[in-house]
Amino acid sequence: MTAERELIAAIQRRAGAAAPGVAGLVQGIGDDCAVWRPAAAEVGLVTTDTLVEGVHFDRAWHPPRLLGRKAVAVNMSDIAAMGGSPRFVLLSLGLPGDEAEQWRDDLLDGLAEAVTEYRAVLIGGDTVRAPAGVLLTVTVIGAADPERVCLRSGGRAGDSVWVGGPLGLAAAGLEICRRGLGADPQWRQAVQAHLDPAAQVVLGQKLAAAGLVNAMMDLSDGLATDLAHLATASGLGAEVDAGLLPIPEIVRRAARVCRADPLAWALRGGEDYQLLFTAPPANDEALARLGALIPGAALIRIGRLIPGAGVFLQDNGRRREIGYGGYDHFRRE
Ligand SMILES: [Mg+2]
Repeated sequence: MTAERELIAAIQRRAGAAAPGVAGLVQGIGDDCAVWRPAAAEVGLVTTDTLVEGVHFDRAWHPPRLLGRKAVAVNMSDIAAMGGSPRFVLLSLGLPGDEAEQWRDDLLDGLAEAVTEYRAVLIGGDTVRAPAGVLLTVTVIGAADPERVCLRSGGRAGDSVWVGGPLGLAAAGLEICRRGLGADPQWRQAVQAHLDPAAQVVLGQKLAAAGLVNAMMDLSDGLATDLAHLATASGLGAEVDAGLLPIPEIVRRAARVCRADPLAWALRGGEDYQLLFTAPPANDEALARLGALIPGAALIRIGRLIPGAGVFLQDNGRRREIGYGGYDHFRRE
């Protein structure tokens, strides 16, 4: 048996174990294609995201099980952003060949575990040799109600801008890990946000079903950049109040230790994987009530959409443009 066949068998074993009979699946992993029957009343969603060793994660501190979970979660976050339900997962895995078998098994265990947690099923995959480092591409196929699917472009002038939870935790966790402090229990919440983020799939579904939201996306590149994407797609600008940003105390403490700016982490840190959405101000109270019923969600209104263009931060009476100030993979510092 070649190494690749072993790897494929290892993936197949986990796909079988995680298949809870998802509706519509005709043929799972093991044929040339997977086959499923889309429900007539739904639209399909598809998203893909790649994690590259040295760019998105560091094997030195990212436990393989959590890395597998994260590769799934960052894609589930895109399904959440549309208000959809995850259905099927595809994995393309590049391995350098220097990794231990236990490392590989832990990675696949974490991946399969997360697929099951998000009520999806692994229906296919591919493996390649990747000499430059581990490469994980996950594709998630989901479904949504065509009348309720949430686009970025639906924002209206005057909408309140909301986030689904705290900002800056993952950026703090990353910096803590970089400094070799990740094992210190006082940073657990931040380190977990970096290593093992949770996608707000249930929140996205509830928001979509309630019909309270005009535009929605998930926060992957930082609020400054992602809000600029949403506002631009809606043909509008946005204004955010610095004092309303949900920056947890642990982020402020980590920023002091790392001599960093907690506001910069909240605006530009990236990888928060919270939902960002807009809704008419008349829905403010209904949204606060809905948020209180969803475990893990903490809905905070942080600003508004405005006519014009640009994203502006109001901070102690000063107003400055912050649009697209987030993490950019292709930016040279
Ligand atoms: Mg996204």
